[in-house]
Amino acid sequence: MTRPIQVLVAEDDPKIAKVVEHLLRREGYQVARARDGREALTRVEVEPFDLLLLDIGLPEVDGFEVCRRVKARSDLPVIVLSARGEELDRVMGLTLGADDYIAKPFNSAELVLRVKAVLRRARSGGADSPSELQRVQRGNLTLDRSSRQAWLGEREVSLTGKEFDILWTLAQRPGQVWTREQLLQQVWDTDYMGDSSTLTVLVRRLREKIEPDPAEPQYIRTVYGVGYRFVEVPPSSV
Ligand code: CA
Repeated sequence: MTRPIQVLVAEDDPKIAKVVEHLLRREGYQVARARDGREALTRVEVEPFDLLLLDIGLPEVDGFEVCRRVKARSDLPVIVLSARGEELDRVMGLTLGADDYIAKPFNSAELVLRVKAVLRRARSGGADSPSELQRVQRGNLTLDRSSRQAWLGEREVSLTGKEFDILWTLAQRPGQVWTREQLLQQVWDTDYMGDSSTLTVLVRRLREKIEPDPAEPQYIRTVYGVGYRFVEVPPSSV
């Protein structure tokens, strides 16, 4: 028998905490709650959590600092919850290393989907081991690595080799923020020193091919001043 998945919800707002706890328990997870950053740090030290859902605006120690400390000493997956008033790009820049970001108010289905995606990724070997995965399905988008094909629903999308590489890299780890340098290195394999305008052009072309509205990208989001991240869009909202 496998033990149930244990999630720590670090959230000082009792209403939000209650909703999140309810959603996660309904999925069969064991849920604990920390009311401030200090409590969250103490508990992740001594309890075997599989995931930390972390509010940014926490008393005692804020979410930025909690994320930094947790990621500095463990592989515990972290999903950051950010309030509407907080600029998500700034949050992402300051919590680089978090596994995903969710803005409040959040959609219930989306929260559950993101939690499952992060847990799935953590279980399939974590962020550091190369994935043997040959096919990924993200919302309406399907990618096949062996044939290097991509589909949007039933329609095949024609991608160049580099376009496919970038999309594959991003889609493998939804939510993760990639700096431009990291992406260039992934796709060119070595210490590519070329200018990052190449990447900008590639991403623009990719968006024209896969985004319903390239001016308002749903899949490949820009993180200003940092890079890009892929967002898994729930199929129902596509
Ligand atoms: Ca808060």
